[in-house]
Parts: sequence; structure tokens; C-alpha cells
Amino acid sequence: MKYYAPKGLSDILPEEIPYWHAVEGEVRSAMSSYNYREIRTPMMEKTEVFARGVGEDTDVVSKEMYTFDDKGGRSMTLRPENTASVVRAYLEHKFFGKEELSKWYYVGPMFRYEAPQKGRSRQFHQYGAEAIGSDDPALDAELITLAIDILTSLGLEDVGLKLNSIGCPADREDYIEELVSYLEPKQEGLCADCQERLTTNPLRILDCKNETCQEIVKDGPVMTDHLCEDCQVHFDEVKSYLGELEVDYVIEPKLVRGLDYYTKTVFEVFSEDLGAQDALVGGGRYDGLVELFGGEPTPAVGFAGGIERLVLLLEELERVSHSGEGLDLYVATIDEESKKVAVKIQRELRKVGLITEVDYLGKSLQGQLGYADRYDAKYTAILGPRELEDDELTLRNMESGDQIKVSLDNYVEDIGKRITD
Ligand SMILES: [Zn+2]
Ligand SMILES: [Zn+2]
Repeated sequence: MKYYAPKGLSDILPEEIPYWHAVEGEVRSAMSSYNYREIRTPMMEKTEVFARGVGEDTDVVSKEMYTFDDKGGRSMTLRPENTASVVRAYLEHKFFGKEELSKWYYVGPMFRYEAPQKGRSRQFHQYGAEAIGSDDPALDAELITLAIDILTSLGLEDVGLKLNSIGCPADREDYIEELVSYLEPKQEGLCADCQERLTTNPLRILDCKNETCQEIVKDGPVMTDHLCEDCQVHFDEVKSYLGELEVDYVIEPKLVRGLDYYTKTVFEVFSEDLGAQDALVGGGRYDGLVELFGGEPTPAVGFAGGIERLVLLLEELERVSHSGEGLDLYVATIDEESKKVAVKIQRELRKVGLITEVDYLGKSLQGQLGYADRYDAKYTAILGPRELEDDELTLRNMESGDQIKVSLDNYVEDIGKRITD
């Protein structure tokens, strides 16, 4: 073996695809019933789109981006997330003048240079929704229920919600000041990363995975004590809509999310189906982002979910059929001449939607029947010199072993009816 996929990048093999189709299918159907339309942005952008939109001091931008100069000497970056690109596209195509509220979704690969581990690949896949143009708390609640409904429709049973508000930039400035003065005397105890974050991005200390950091932060000040009246009312309204929608939640005062652009509502949706509480979906409001990109102040809210982790969970829970679809019909042949007829028959049956296969491996009739069995064929059609002479084929029900003759004049309708019955 000479060639391997680059470290941290993985193939999604045919046997895993049924899970991917299940996830992507539920995402598309839920998104359209919630009236979100799909947008597809390029997989790379000018680096400044992410530097600006995601934030220079975030781990994503400072450590995890795939950035390179193209042949024209422009700095380009493979998208590490999609919200910044969506906002760039919203402004570039002047949607602010075309629709009052843009409700969009996306599904696709993102790239981050992270330590690879189970369920985390350097090319990973996300689905997400963005609603740009309204600060209505009912819209925050809509996004949250959308994220939950996708997971429950995939068969997850214990789906939970963590909720917080990180207020507006002024509230945050207030809070950060108090947080820093609380942490400074204790900074010796923080991990090296957090000691640096104390000056660059103190909020990120709240979601550091290091246990001593968590311990120190536990008794610190909480964001929700620093909300201005406007942000407090908004947060209360979000909670009240969630109440109307009968969505349970836990207020998680340390939840800040890793990206700089969030304001007010932040949330994570997680599954307890396997005991762990890893977030499957994260999102929040980003009222400042459109303006940061040079647009008019425009409120917005969105979320993103990781597909790899969800697929792993579904595989372990065995909630999705993983066998894929079997063959409807295998067309077995005995000689060259019958094979020429078989490929024609196969094409006609494929046109009416049947899944069919013929022999491409030069197998004996016995071998072909074995192959049909292995691919779960419901029926096998057998064609040989005798059948051709009588202008018919032999149709064998692979489950019962029963065989009947079917005229070649009317086989499409005849076989189609038997298989769909
Ligand atoms: Zn505020
Ligand atoms: Zn830390």
C-alpha cells in the first residue's frame, strides 16, 4: 500500500452512507417544513472573511484554519464554519433589499486543523440554519425547536437543551471586567492557554476543558447577572416561547460558545442517549455580525450541528437500517446471446425505478444465483437459449424458490407489479 488519505481526513465508505443519507434527508425535510431554503457557498473564502467574522483571537482562527496563498498571492482559507460565508453572501447579493427575513440552511464539509479523534476529522461535515433580519425571541425559539426536531426525527430519545444569554457587547464588557478581576488573583492556577486567554479572550476560560480551570471558574461571576434590561427581556421572552412549545431546558451560565460573533441567546442541544452530554448542535444569536461585515445593523440567529458525531451516535444506537437497499431483481444469463437481451431488460426495468443487476464477472448460473442472494435480490430472472426461443423469461422468487414464466412482450409491467406488491 503506497497511498493513504492525509492524516485526519477520512473516507466515508459505502456501508456508512445509509446513515449519512438518513441525516441529510431529515435535515432537508425539517428545514423545508420550517421554511428554510438551502444556500451553497464556496468551500474557500478570502482569509479575512473568517478572521473578521469568526474573530482573530478564537482558537478556530488562530490555530485551526487551513490557510494558504493561491497562485495569485491571495490568502485563502478552507471554510472552518459556514456562518461567516453565509453573511458574506447575504451582503454580496444584497438580500437585505430583497427579503425582510432570510431563512437559509446549508449542509457540507468544513475544515479545521485539529487533533484527529473518534468522531472528529479535519474535514468534517455540518448542517446549519441561519435566520437573518429579525430579533424576535420567537425566532430564537424556532431555531431551537428546529435543531431538536431534526434529532428526534432521527430516533434520538433523550435530547436536552442548554441555554444561556451572553447579552450585548456592553453587557459583556461589564461582565468580562468582573470576570478578569475575579480570575487575576487566581491566575497561577489556570492552564497555560487560559493564562493567555486572560488578556486575549477571557470568556473562553469559561469553557476550558481543564478541570482546575473549571474548578476556579465555578464560583466566579455569571453572565446572566450582567444583562441590561433589553437583553434580560429578550432572554425572558425566549424562555417563555420555549415554555409555550413545551421544550425543556437547563440554564447553563457558563455556556459562551467558542466564536466571537454571538450575542444574547446561546444554546447547545445534546443527546443523553449514550449517557454522555456532548453537544450535537450549537448556536445562538449574532446581532452584530452583519454590521461587522459592513452592512446595516441586522439581527440574526442560527445554529450548526456536526454530522460525524451524529452518525457515530446513530450507528451505536442502531436506529437507522444500515443494510442499504437490496436488489429488486438480478438478471441471470446462460450465454452471450441471452446477456445481450438481459442488458436491455435491465435498462427498461431501471427506467421504472427497480434496482437491478446483471453478471459482469463471467460467473456460472449457480454463481450468479449466489451473487443475487448475497445482494438480497427479491427476484432473479433467468434467461437462456430455451427462454429466448419461447420469448419469455423464468422469474424466480428468491425467498420461496417458486418459479414462473413471464412473457418478454409484457415483462416490465408484469415484473414491476410483482416486485412492488
Ligand atoms: Zn444588553
Ligand atoms: Zn484552562
